[in-house]
Amino acid sequence: MKVNECGSVTVYTFEQLAPFDNLLHFVSTRKGGSSDGNFASLNLGFHVGDNDFRVLQNRRALADAVGVDLLQFTLAQQSHSANVAIVDETGRGRGAAEYETALPNTDGMVTNAENVCLGVQVADCVPILLYDPVQRVIAALHAGWKGTLRKIALAAVNTMRHNYGSRAEDIHAGLGPSNGPCCYEVGEDVYRETLMALGPAAGVAVPAKIPGKYFFDQWKANARQLKEAGLMHDRIEVAGICSQCHHDVFYSSRAGKGITGRYMAGIMLKKQRQAYHRSKRP
Ligand SMILES: [Zn+2]
Repeated sequence: MKVNECGSVTVYTFEQLAPFDNLLHFVSTRKGGSSDGNFASLNLGFHVGDNDFRVLQNRRALADAVGVDLLQFTLAQQSHSANVAIVDETGRGRGAAEYETALPNTDGMVTNAENVCLGVQVADCVPILLYDPVQRVIAALHAGWKGTLRKIALAAVNTMRHNYGSRAEDIHAGLGPSNGPCCYEVGEDVYRETLMALGPAAGVAVPAKIPGKYFFDQWKANARQLKEAGLMHDRIEVAGICSQCHHDVFYSSRAGKGITGRYMAGIMLKKQRQAYHRSKRP
């Protein structure tokens, strides 16, 4: 990933997605907001115990920094499901300025509508952005261990294929900063569920030194899921940045002991430039 300073706000971008002119995307950080304490400073989550007014200010600051309108943000009430919503123009702005209007019980969104900025909010879970430049379709996903085992990445690729005619091999993917295999310790229950969902050979949950504890590799699990869905290996970018190790830059639920903010991964199809058509007019 690449670090971009946009005034006082810092965002990261994927090398995989940066070359596309009519695509806007970002992963926000903690920097450049007005929240304090555990939420310092660019907390974008309404539902985490921070002051709503500051959250709205932070969302405006992010919108300004990355060049979108606040009311283009389209967000979900995330529930660790594998539910993928198909968003059209009428969905633009859902959840942008308040939590209540966000898409309920949804952890993935797909659209081919322009100027709809799909965003997922995370603190340790994996934010995944997908782009098919051939059919011009985008997706934003929230994949923690539950969403990963429920195969939200696979569900999103299938939605892109079935509803928009995408070919998996055309899709570019970015897996953003999130809790890494260095830190993401889970117990026996998660280990058993992982074996049931992905099989013992997956190597996604490996034993830690402490008996009954395991390290869960969200990056490997999701990258593999995307490969199994048909994506090409060299079109999957794993940021490899651990949010718990880098909790000064990104929010980490574990580092904040459950009280922390949310950073956002967003993606938007910008309106195609009309200059070409204009120049063809007599
Ligand atoms: Zn770590």
